[in-house]
Amino acid sequence: MARAMPQPSFFKRLFSHDVAVDLGTANTLIYTHDQGIVLNQPSVVCFQKHAAIGRERVAAVGKEAKQLLGRVPVNLEAVRPMRHGVIANFAAAEHMIRQFVDMSSTRTRLGRRPSFTICVPAGATQVERRAIREAAVAAGAWKVNLIGESLASAVGAGLPVSEATGSMVVDIGGGTTEVGVIALGGMAYSGSIRVGGDQFDLAIVNYVRNVYGVVLGDQTAEHVKKTIGTAIRDVPTERINATGRSLDDGLPRTVQLTNHDIAEAIASPLAHVIGAVKAALESAPPELVTDIADAGIVLTGGGSLLGNLDRCLSDQIGLEVRLADEPLTCAVRGAGAASAVLDPHAFD
Ligand code: ADP
Ligand code: MG
Repeated sequence: MARAMPQPSFFKRLFSHDVAVDLGTANTLIYTHDQGIVLNQPSVVCFQKHAAIGRERVAAVGKEAKQLLGRVPVNLEAVRPMRHGVIANFAAAEHMIRQFVDMSSTRTRLGRRPSFTICVPAGATQVERRAIREAAVAAGAWKVNLIGESLASAVGAGLPVSEATGSMVVDIGGGTTEVGVIALGGMAYSGSIRVGGDQFDLAIVNYVRNVYGVVLGDQTAEHVKKTIGTAIRDVPTERINATGRSLDDGLPRTVQLTNHDIAEAIASPLAHVIGAVKAALESAPPELVTDIADAGIVLTGGGSLLGNLDRCLSDQIGLEVRLADEPLTCAVRGAGAASAVLDPHAFD
């Protein structure tokens, strides 16, 4: 169950129409105080090309478009507009945000345009931040506040962000891992690496190609990871069949993979994630590190659902590690509640 989120004051609710947006590399979520999560869709948009008139139109977004990734007919193109938490394809991002805002019916309420609070990775540059603002304004936002993803995730995970005690949150998304140390309503340390669930999928594709001579699609690799993936090897064996294209003859071939295969396949991106957490513990102010040693580390983001990741991190770092409740929705719920618990300077 999600924790009860702090609510904005009565007057703020009366006069403003606040919408929180988590524009993730893998998934986009939209949240309002009144209705909770009003949209949760893969960050994918599919265009149909009209060769005759030289224009494109949006054929599908979200779940429908994700099903088309890697299997589109010639006149369609499925695009993931976000890479590593920032906009990689501006036109596609703008179309996608506009469609999602329409689907969530948050464009206007009682004639007022929404004010967006959008999560951004700590590593996003000024240019990347401006691109996100502009895409949101084009999608109908009246005002845009940006909030660091770690801070939003920490609020969403129910950590005591406003207190002097330091908290550490590790958000593992599709294309980034964000490590944040939070105290007194602000970031005392933030680190961001461009490694997340996508890099785990890619590592599985590479491993299966090298070891079994079979090329899997990205979505097959993701399915394998979600079904039997494990971060540690000393667990009972689990198996799954996966079908790809044989390197020998180009024909479809099914291979049986074990969870131990997956642990080996993802060892390298996983080491980067562990390295980012260690770097944060080495660089954060010593007093806060003492607090974190007492309170432990909280994991959020979809990547944190990888089997035994909490145990793996805990073994490697020697601290208690726990998974947040509903890790996939922490950031957007936190962004929605942030204005009620944080000072205005926490926003950009
Ligand atoms: P983002 O914020 O970047 O959009 P999310 O927090 O939505 O990312 O997480 C998406 C990532 O989480 C994807 O790479 C997805 O494969 C991964 N993921 C989701 N569920 C699981 C699971 N059960 N096991 C492992 N990885 C998972
Ligand atoms: Mg995220």
